[in-house]
Amino acid sequence: EARRTGLFAPRGYEPRLEEELARRLLIETELREAIADDRLVPYFQPLVRLGDGTTHGFEALARWPRPDGSFVPPDIFIGIAENAGLVTKLSDNLLRSACRVARAWPANLILYFNISPRQLTDRLLVSRILRILEEVDFPPNRLSVEITESAIIDDIAGALRILDQLRAADVRVALDDFGTGYSSFAQLARFPFNTIKIDRHFTASILENEKQTKIVRSLLRLSSALEVSMLAEGIETVEQCARLRAMGCYLGQGYLLGRPMPAEAVPGFLEQASARWRQLFHAD
Ligand code: C2E
Ligand code: MG
Ligand code: MG
Ligand code: MG
Repeated sequence: EARRTGLFAPRGYEPRLEEELARRLLIETELREAIADDRLVPYFQPLVRLGDGTTHGFEALARWPRPDGSFVPPDIFIGIAENAGLVTKLSDNLLRSACRVARAWPANLILYFNISPRQLTDRLLVSRILRILEEVDFPPNRLSVEITESAIIDDIAGALRILDQLRAADVRVALDDFGTGYSSFAQLARFPFNTIKIDRHFTASILENEKQTKIVRSLLRLSSALEVSMLAEGIETVEQCARLRAMGCYLGQGYLLGRPMPAEAVPGFLEQASARWRQLFHAD
């Protein structure tokens, strides 16, 4: 079992460089097998309309199950997949699986799907996405591709080209983790986003920090002028949710509204959604 325990160094322990490299190589080898066997699965986290608690869609989040029932977090394996040249296959497999699941949902629900920075340099990215949609018979306008702010800033012209190609094919585009980079809202107005996801550090600070609240408020005002829907990430408390609702934020996502869940749990979530919302807000 040394092979298994070697994957994760114990906490509070500073690994030496060669140990870190050996660890990465081990993960890389296992990841390569997991991708080849199509063992990575999408989990789904709901995106909720804050006005009435109805479900707008779900974000697919990659999960790599371990034999012991735990998961390797995507923050770890996506980066390794990128560096090992595995991210294309990983992403294609995952998109295919996620679309097959989402095809069975009510037709108004949108599937959100993450694209990593490295994929923006792939000239065939958009054509492969479209081919997968066709293959699994999933309507392009029910897919929203999420791209982070930092990925765009690395290559503005390239990113803009990809976003325009996606929009031309009727695929929606979303800006992920907005507020973590250095771009201004004015810069971003040039991009054809349908949705902007405000990073969860804003949501976390919204009750404590008056300045942050003002920033979010002005973002929300600007977004309505630009006809972009705003989403607040990382909503964990009823108080955060109530505040964002009062500020007129259209969409929310976070543990309060629903944790990432396996595909089988989605129908049950949709059935329970209005009861959950009533419970949270005593709304009718
Ligand atoms: P992200 O796209 O910003 O996804 C949201 C992350 O925040 C998810 O973590 C989710 O579980 C977590 N989250 C949701 N609500 C809350 C909350 O209320 N509080 C807190 N503290 N966290 C919350 P996850 O699933 O570990 O994913 C981490 C990141 O890994 C994602 O960030 C995304 O950048 C990347 N990722 C996940 N799946 C994929 C994928 O299929 N492809 C690519 N390229 N990247 C992916
Ligand atoms: Mg995302
Ligand atoms: Mg995000
Ligand atoms: Mg985030």
